[in-house]
Amino acid sequence: MNTADSELIMGILNGAGFEPAHTLDEADVIILNTCAVREKAEARILGRLTNLVPFRRLRPGLMIGVVGCMAKHLGDKLVQERPYVDFIAGPDQYRNLPEMIRSKRRKAMIQTEFDRSEVYSGCTPTRPRGVTAWVTIQRGCNYVCTYCIVPHVRGAERNVPAADILSEVRRLASEGFSVVTLLGQTVNSYRDGDINFARLLRMVAQVEGIEQVRFTSPHPLGFSDELIDVIATEPHVAKFVHLPLQSASDSQLALMRRKYTFEEYQAIVRKLREKCPEIAISTDIIVGFCGETEEDYLKTRQALIDNRYAFAFLFAYSERSLAIAAKTMKDDVPAEVKQRRLAEIIDIQQKISKEIYTSYVGKRVEVIVEGYSRKHAEQAVGNTRDFKTTIFDKGDCEPGDWVEVEIDSATSQTLVGHLVRIIRKSGPIQVQEQIEVGISLGPTES
Ligand code: SAH
Ligand code: SF4
Repeated sequence: MNTADSELIMGILNGAGFEPAHTLDEADVIILNTCAVREKAEARILGRLTNLVPFRRLRPGLMIGVVGCMAKHLGDKLVQERPYVDFIAGPDQYRNLPEMIRSKRRKAMIQTEFDRSEVYSGCTPTRPRGVTAWVTIQRGCNYVCTYCIVPHVRGAERNVPAADILSEVRRLASEGFSVVTLLGQTVNSYRDGDINFARLLRMVAQVEGIEQVRFTSPHPLGFSDELIDVIATEPHVAKFVHLPLQSASDSQLALMRRKYTFEEYQAIVRKLREKCPEIAISTDIIVGFCGETEEDYLKTRQALIDNRYAFAFLFAYSERSLAIAAKTMKDDVPAEVKQRRLAEIIDIQQKISKEIYTSYVGKRVEVIVEGYSRKHAEQAVGNTRDFKTTIFDKGDCEPGDWVEVEIDSATSQTLVGHLVRIIRKSGPIQVQEQIEVGISLGPTES
């Protein structure tokens, strides 16, 4: 979601005449787009800010801005603690960035108000040319999961009109993008008049030139039979669903206000697997949330084993000041217990992922080529229909092609194979390296 927002910000700035710098030394403005979901994410940004201080000394006039969720979360406090930050913009204030930058005021500018109607209509993100594109269909969140800061920093749910989404996807297809990922905090709560998420997904999947549609993240509540049917029957919808569980203990789910029971969640998993046997499922889990007993934790651990997720994002609970739990519950699981539980499930999940990925060895899979490996120019990278990243010697295939790959080996995250044949060529597509504006934030934590 932040990558999509960074592209949106780039689009807004490009539209106002700004151009991306290719190195930090060249930059007149450095903008950090931030996450506030866990303390670690914020700590990392604070570290990056410290690293930028020397640049400021070397280049008088350099402006440093912090935007996104952490900007909304910390606001004035951030400027007080880091007086060299020139401007701060919350997730609904990106349209004002050109003006904020141009005003070059000496006193820091802080714009973090919510705008309940902002969906950035008319703003075109600047995307690196290629095959894959993020498409934001929803901003904000109407849920109130007690551990979560998101609704408090991104505001209430707003949906992009379906007509705008479809015209953006058509435009993307005409520019050679053939894989789109629809984004929203609870994408399946999407609605525009009588167009619900299932219908929207079907319409996007049927846009000419679109080969794969992925989406993230759906919420288990409202994960309808209609949606399962679209996933199972629409050939261009990826056979992959990220379905956050968080915990398998009903008392924890209730404390988290997730609005489903473990059994209700399992019913969705069963139906998905029954209607679409090739489906791959991934999840998010939090261990060590307030009051989590060993018994609660063991239920979650067992669910991870039983559900055999393709992969999982696993987290130790991190108290966030604006979230409900921080105000009303005690963060009472000791840090070492949280870390022990987390290490245990990471280990379990890694083994399961490795088994699942290894089960592809010797098989042939269909892969859509999405680009070339950064490390080895001779290798192409793509994804299977069930969203398994696959690396293989590229031969004469090109981005956008559907190819058949025979898998020779696997890690817990990647399939490695060789090209058998090109199934279908796409038109010529130029793939551009992601423009790195500022510094890479390194690998994502798991
Ligand atoms: N809207 C998405 C989640 C967005 S946040 C959804 O509901 O699925 C991504 C993940 O971060 C969450 O699913 C949760 O597992 C994790 N997370 C959120 N707040 C957290 C916190 N305070 N501590 C630890 N993990 C958290
Ligand atoms: Fe946070 Fe819950 Fe909204 Fe996801 S659904 S963003 S976890 S409040």
